[in-house]
Amino acid sequence: MHSSIVVLGGGPGGYAAAFLAADEGLEVTMVEADPRLGGTCLLRGCIPSKALLHVARVIAEVDELRHDWGVVYPPPKLDINKVRERKEKVITTLTGGLKQLAKRRNVKVIHARGVFENSTTLRLEGDDPSIGSDKTLTFDHCVLATGSTPAMPPAFNIGSDRVMDSTGALSLADLPESLLVIGGGYIGLEMGSVYAQLGSKVSVVELLDGLLPGADRDLVKPLHKRLNTLFHERIFLNTKVGSLGLRGNKIEVAFEGPGKFGAEQFDRVLVSVGRRPNSRGFGLENTQVEIDGKGFVKVNEQMRTTDPHILAIGDVAGEPMLAHKATHEGRVAAEVLAGKSVVFDRLAIPAVIFTDPEIAWCGLTEEQAKKDDRKHEVAIYPWAASGRAIALGRTEGLTKILVDPDTERVLGVGIVGAGAGELIAEAALAIEMGCEVTDIAQTIHPHPTLSETVMNAAEAFFGTATEIYKPKRKSAESAS
Ligand SMILES: Cc1cc2nc3c(=O)[nH]c(=O)nc-3n(C[C@H](O)[C@H](O)[C@H](O)COP(=O)(O)OP(=O)(O)OC[C@H]3O[C@@H](n4cnc5c(N)ncnc54)[C@H](O)[C@@H]3O)c2cc1C
Repeated sequence: MHSSIVVLGGGPGGYAAAFLAADEGLEVTMVEADPRLGGTCLLRGCIPSKALLHVARVIAEVDELRHDWGVVYPPPKLDINKVRERKEKVITTLTGGLKQLAKRRNVKVIHARGVFENSTTLRLEGDDPSIGSDKTLTFDHCVLATGSTPAMPPAFNIGSDRVMDSTGALSLADLPESLLVIGGGYIGLEMGSVYAQLGSKVSVVELLDGLLPGADRDLVKPLHKRLNTLFHERIFLNTKVGSLGLRGNKIEVAFEGPGKFGAEQFDRVLVSVGRRPNSRGFGLENTQVEIDGKGFVKVNEQMRTTDPHILAIGDVAGEPMLAHKATHEGRVAAEVLAGKSVVFDRLAIPAVIFTDPEIAWCGLTEEQAKKDDRKHEVAIYPWAASGRAIALGRTEGLTKILVDPDTERVLGVGIVGAGAGELIAEAALAIEMGCEVTDIAQTIHPHPTLSETVMNAAEAFFGTATEIYKPKRKSAESAS
């Protein structure tokens, strides 16, 4: 079999590349090892986690009504089978949609594991009837979109299903009385929040001195405070997990750190200490593709690898490992293959942590600006001044803007608060369009909404935000 373009991997990077390449009139075959399309994001990542986080959020909101507004409902009763079924239905709907879209676009889909024999040939492993008798598929160009998998350090891999990775946690086998989350990154905190709201007693252990390493500390602070309540003050920082051991139906965990020391038993443990790119074990060594020290495939700004026949996109092609970055790279790869002169300019890749409150940022962070010695000014709008946030009882949020003081260009935006993930889209557009801060300050935002806080933070830069007092800057006239 031969196809002009082969896309290896049917996740958000792979299917975006395949569909857009087909839209460009190219002949495309997508090879995916899983029986369903969608990849990590749809089958065991973004989508199922957000479906479960929705349940967690509604439970929390009902609880807030009881505590803060005097509206009392009976305590929720949980039918875990129904929750699981509903989550699966969401996945089935989406993966079914992808199958239809592939068909309509004439993208041939082969469910098989692809192994490179050389730079233009894949060996297909599996029993999909469309594999053909010689079990090989040759191509002019291949888009590598093989994604990533959860990292499981050997010391934690004790052969018990009570020690789970994110895929195990999302399968929601039962609701453990106690759950330890190893790793204070976004996946651990999102899944920890789900289990805590459903009724588990959740603890988090993190090796470093703060949750969400790499995220802006101003944004993490309000989240840490709220999670401390949800997790009953059981967030152990600066603490290492020395070992795990199976003791009957429990997992015994040895803690080594100032946050916690000694052994404690848990019903389940979620190991969420990062993800590894899928770049080994399927013959890349038979091509000219180069891999860096962290296992990522080396690519240029056109997503081309060091092998002229192979492009790479998504998680396997580098950080940040996010679905929308994979999709965007898929678009770039498809356009490059269609002969268009395009590059991926990594100016504004939004990042969202779907905890409660949510954290979202886009563009330059304050920490990065300091590290790069980049001239910048920061304006912050505390949500305590927002009428909508007060009405919602969610005043812990804040919106901050990083501005280049010379050009007044928006360099970055960070938001913590309810719905921050939706609000950050405006910032992505602003940065992508090269907005000056006055453009945001002078754009009328609907009242009363949390989106106003983005405008208000821009106004705060000039000292002209109505609800907070800050002495005016010289250039404030330009914002009026
Ligand atoms: C719990 C969790 C929550 C997440 N939440 C978010 C979120 O909210 N927002 C966000 O942006 N990102 C989120 N992510 C990350 C997101 O899922 C990934 O960034 C995204 O799926 C990467 O897309 P991809 O196309 O590069 O790879 P993947 O989605 O990993 O897809 C790769 C596909 O390639 C296939 N494959 C691999 N090797 C072969 C082979 N040799 N032959 C054939 N097929 C192969 C795999 O079966 C897989 O289907 C989350 C991840 C997890 C685990």
